[in-house]
Amino acid sequence: GNSGSPRRRVLLKLSGEVFGGGKLGVDPEMVRGIAKQIAATVGEVEVAIVVGGGNFFRGAELSQSGMDRSRADYMGMLGTVMNCLALQDFLEQAGVETRVQSAITMGQVAEAYIPRRAIRHLEKGRVVIFGAGAGLPYFSTDTVAAQRALEVRADVVLMAKSGVDGVYTADPHKDATARKLDSLSYDDALRQDIRVMDQTAMTMCKDNNLSMVVFGMEGEGNVTSAIMGERIGTIVSP
Ligand code: UDP
Repeated sequence: GNSGSPRRRVLLKLSGEVFGGGKLGVDPEMVRGIAKQIAATVGEVEVAIVVGGGNFFRGAELSQSGMDRSRADYMGMLGTVMNCLALQDFLEQAGVETRVQSAITMGQVAEAYIPRRAIRHLEKGRVVIFGAGAGLPYFSTDTVAAQRALEVRADVVLMAKSGVDGVYTADPHKDATARKLDSLSYDDALRQDIRVMDQTAMTMCKDNNLSMVVFGMEGEGNVTSAIMGERIGTIVSP
């Protein structure tokens, strides 16, 4: 349990494409919109956020263009920190207290990742934004979302997706017969090789008994609904 706090605690994963609106860099209006939706839940729910960086760099893609994979991954991690700062700014403009914690130390812009301090911030009603992934090459921010959720003892992982609103029986962009699922188990998702989430993240959640909700960003108020625990998207359970 989380020290007697009765509040629901969630770990929200925002992928980089959510920040860029599908383009390179940060689209301030996109970030402002997300920040408002998160602000609407503060006080009701404790919110920790893991931020992706695909709107800047993905290490695997850069390494295919000839860069050293680890160095490219560090570039990817640094990109996530820019997204964190943008989100922090718009959350603070919306009146929300925030802290950014980075897995790569950079004291001028963020606290270091200190799990017990993160939990303390959440208990005080601050939104904690985790940047720089795990600080380790070859990891993805989806995997980090599962890890951080476990370490800060979140009740659920909320995977916000762009362009898809849940888990389907097949790729809805390619197969007209694809149906959206309200729920499925990790075993089924792993067996069916569902690609909407990272396999490592799913395995980690399965092994540690943590549910995940996969939902689409696009609907009006969807981020608020997901944080508040309304039935939205697809729930993936152990
Ligand atoms: N990354 C990494 N280690 C981590 C997290 C991220 O090396 O722990 C790098 C990796 O290169 C990745 C990039 O940062 O491609 C951006 O993260 P990700 O692709 O997970 O972002 P998203 O797809 O959510 O936008």
